[in-house]
Amino acid sequence: MQEYGLFRPIDSQALGSGEKENRPIPEPGPNEVLLHMSCVGICGSDVSYLKRGAIGDFIVKAPMVLGHESSGVVAKCGSNVKNLKPGDRVAIEPGVPCRMCNFCKSGKYNLCPDVVFCATPPYDGSLCRYYKHAADFCFKLPDHVSLEEGAILEPLSVGVHACRRAGVTMGSNVLVLGAGPIGLVSLLTAKAMGASQICVTDIAENRLHVAKSMGADHTVLVKGGNLEALAEEIKKLMGDMPDVTIECSGAESSIHLGIVATKSGGVLVLVGLGPSEVKVPIVNAATREVDIRGIFRYVNCYPLALDMIASGKINVKPLITHRFKLEESIKAFETAATGSGGAIKVMISCE
Ligand SMILES: [Zn+2]
Ligand SMILES: [Zn+2]
Repeated sequence: MQEYGLFRPIDSQALGSGEKENRPIPEPGPNEVLLHMSCVGICGSDVSYLKRGAIGDFIVKAPMVLGHESSGVVAKCGSNVKNLKPGDRVAIEPGVPCRMCNFCKSGKYNLCPDVVFCATPPYDGSLCRYYKHAADFCFKLPDHVSLEEGAILEPLSVGVHACRRAGVTMGSNVLVLGAGPIGLVSLLTAKAMGASQICVTDIAENRLHVAKSMGADHTVLVKGGNLEALAEEIKKLMGDMPDVTIECSGAESSIHLGIVATKSGGVLVLVGLGPSEVKVPIVNAATREVDIRGIFRYVNCYPLALDMIASGKINVKPLITHRFKLEESIKAFETAATGSGGAIKVMISCE
């Protein structure tokens, strides 16, 4: 049995301190592959588990390996695996559902109550040297798509699901609230799906510069104050109210803005997760038929996300601002948590 280095950021005694541990290399089951891990991006959820030990109802009760935005190289295939072979470079879709329940059978496997999702308690994530995963949730990367881009497929899939739920299509006018990684992938996706105009808001000026450089037509710096006036400013910039608003911050005031800024008959998609209860002008939404929709992760989005990158329709490379080695994971998490140095997506190399 071989040993390998593994980062274990959450320890039950010293929450958030992080530690390394050796564990045996796992043996893939008949329908699984063993992966030599390549890249793992740090997500806001990883930072929350590390710093607070919880996200909503998901509570870390035992030490848990973090990481779910990842890519790797196939090291070994289970006996039934036909779609992959050793040496294949793959993006890893981190949630494997039960495949048996009504949600799975109706194609909404993201809502499966029995999904096993990397780095969501009690399941370990993929921030390690070797990881085993269901072969059909691994997506082979073409030669010209990098392993870093493979790892970015995870947040990009959130953008794809958000835009699909919002009904973004050719000619849509889209408002994106929040220019963090998810806001930016939503921007890229909406543009690739044919949106005519995209306006992005944020409370940080430097993030708006990034949004602009990634194709936002308009940006609005939110400094607090009157939300109705802000909605009016957005309408003026876009020439009309947006058909679709994608809320990526989770902040109460931003959800409020999302309702009043969206055109009557339009759609507001809630992607950002903030406090579990918020006060918003729901009657305004109801009487103007603004549909408010949630999203949970993504479903069948990896193939399209990969195609958008492979075909050159979008460029996700500017999202990756910082790179660390597995041994430097603590520093990587510190950078992601503080956003220091203009950090957008922090990437850890496990090779
Ligand atoms: Zn994530
Ligand atoms: Zn299921």
